[in-house]
Amino acid sequence: MTFPTYSLRPDGAPIQDYLSAVSRLADEVLRTGEALGPILEAYGDFVEALGNAPRRTRSELLVEALLLGVLWRTRGHEATAADPVRSALVARLVSERRRGVRSHADGATAALLLPESSFRPGHLDPSLAQIAQLLDWLLASGEYDDELKRLEGLIWFLGASHASAEHVLAGIVHWAAEFEAMGERTLGVYTARVQRFLSSELERRGAREDTLQCSRRPAEYHWNMVGAEILNRAWRADFLDCSRHLVVLPSCARIRHETDCRALGQEHALKCSHCAVRCPVSQASRAVSRLGAEALAVVHGSDFGRLLRSPALADGGVGVLGVACVPGLVGAGWRVRAAGLPAQCVLLESSGCAHWLDQPVQTSFDLGEIERLLTPDPAGRGTLVSRIAQVA
Ligand code: SF4
Repeated sequence: MTFPTYSLRPDGAPIQDYLSAVSRLADEVLRTGEALGPILEAYGDFVEALGNAPRRTRSELLVEALLLGVLWRTRGHEATAADPVRSALVARLVSERRRGVRSHADGATAALLLPESSFRPGHLDPSLAQIAQLLDWLLASGEYDDELKRLEGLIWFLGASHASAEHVLAGIVHWAAEFEAMGERTLGVYTARVQRFLSSELERRGAREDTLQCSRRPAEYHWNMVGAEILNRAWRADFLDCSRHLVVLPSCARIRHETDCRALGQEHALKCSHCAVRCPVSQASRAVSRLGAEALAVVHGSDFGRLLRSPALADGGVGVLGVACVPGLVGAGWRVRAAGLPAQCVLLESSGCAHWLDQPVQTSFDLGEIERLLTPDPAGRGTLVSRIAQVA
């Protein structure tokens, strides 16, 4: 099968190889990020004191801090390079977004990118002013809104309450540079085509609405992979304790073209009617139903957002397991969390829709991983509900 950027099963390798690799890297990230623990604990206290969000664990805060370093390394040069035309574009788009103007659907944001041949990783000691430029660039792009919600609080906290904010920033960026090397060593085999896609395919296609969406760099893929692993661990107990579970599948995994698929349209999502026995969406829907969960499929990311705001989920108490491709994966998990719902993430084995390929291909996912995440852990590692059930 053709895969344009990443594959969790390169050369047909078993998915377990990837799952083991990302688990090892998650352990390494948590260990190497330990030096930031006291500052992040203070930030966690500050967020909790504001009272508008539940306390985040140290591992969740480490994922956010690492994101700051990764985005500075991957986007900092683009965000701060002296260029009056691009600076004016950033200023205009930021102004529009702050006034609530809808995102451009004409490829205008593609002009925020530098040619791939000019890429330089962000230097190791950014100032707070340069980080502010990065946040503006991310806002202008329209592609990092979920991430920005996390980063703005951290930057504000560092700037307002930490005397050595730029020293802390440098520590975060050094850690992100170390992560780049660890990520390439551990996960580079799974993202081997990302750089080729950026260097040739993205520029060949010209400016499109999805150019920025498709321009994420290998370290961003690795951060999403390891972030999903760490957040799955952090959110697992809350997810399992939910009384209802919803699995959100991507419609690009359907065996039939959308005009032939007989799925029933529900509000913002599709309910499989099992018109094709070998369809992965049908098989997954039946499997999760046996585990007491419900499955729906969504076509667009915007449908996912509307589904989260739908009355069916408004009462809370629903654990949402989302299956999605790597770019933007953690952002989608944070969107679920922000809706007050515990989340779990499963990665598509590769990207295959029209954002990535002129001729889209059917995508695939590991049903075993979905079933594992829906199933309480063995004795000693389960949630309160599962432990009570075991005692009973
Ligand atoms: S089995 Fe379900 S998801 Fe697959 S093509 Fe048929 S109705 Fe659509």
